[in-house]
Amino acid sequence: MRGWWRELGSLVLPTSCAGCGGARTVLCAPCRGLLSAGPARRVRPVPEPPGLPPVYAAVAYADQARAVLLAHKERGVLSLAGPLGRALAVSARAAAAVPGVDGAVLSLVPVPSSRAAVARRGHDPVRRIALAAAGWLRRDGLPVRVRPVLRQRRRVADQAGLTAGQRAANLTGALVVRPGALLAGDVVLLVDDLLTTGVSLAEAARAVRSSGGRPVGAAVVAGPPIGWT
Ligand SMILES: [Zn+2]
Repeated sequence: MRGWWRELGSLVLPTSCAGCGGARTVLCAPCRGLLSAGPARRVRPVPEPPGLPPVYAAVAYADQARAVLLAHKERGVLSLAGPLGRALAVSARAAAAVPGVDGAVLSLVPVPSSRAAVARRGHDPVRRIALAAAGWLRRDGLPVRVRPVLRQRRRVADQAGLTAGQRAANLTGALVVRPGALLAGDVVLLVDDLLTTGVSLAEAARAVRSSGGRPVGAAVVAGPPIGWT
């Protein structure tokens, strides 16, 4: 219901660009272009958690990209899922360009948010962006399916304020693939909105591997701004 109100609200209320604050539109053309202009980049957290597959990002998590991601995630400007999905499609194409993927149906597996976070926000931003990305990828002829097969096995503490080591301990073993949801050898591309420590993506990869899936890479909308230039 909250999502419905927000969608209606964004149709009838005067608004400004979620990226730059200008133009009376949800996202102006320059900000829209900036998100998905590419090329995608390989991004690496420091330190890199063990088991993290290669991660690609479309933009640096800064300025307009950061503002647009936050508007979608925390303020529920749901119409931003389309342009954010287009950016995710840019990084997904780069992440999927690995040997042995050609022709296989690629399973886009979103990193799950906690139930509490979904309830607080009134929507699941990563899943929504993944669905939009799949639309863009299919239009380009890439056979993909969004498969939200991961769930949290136990409650995890809020990651904010934890060190990288504490985050790893907090998350290890936290995710599980729903029984029977993946088949052995299923080609998986993990997707998330952001790369920060990489710990949740590494945990997602571990869970996918332990259920027989093959995580070939990970795609995020935005990566660490340091060294991006
Ligand atoms: Zn703008």
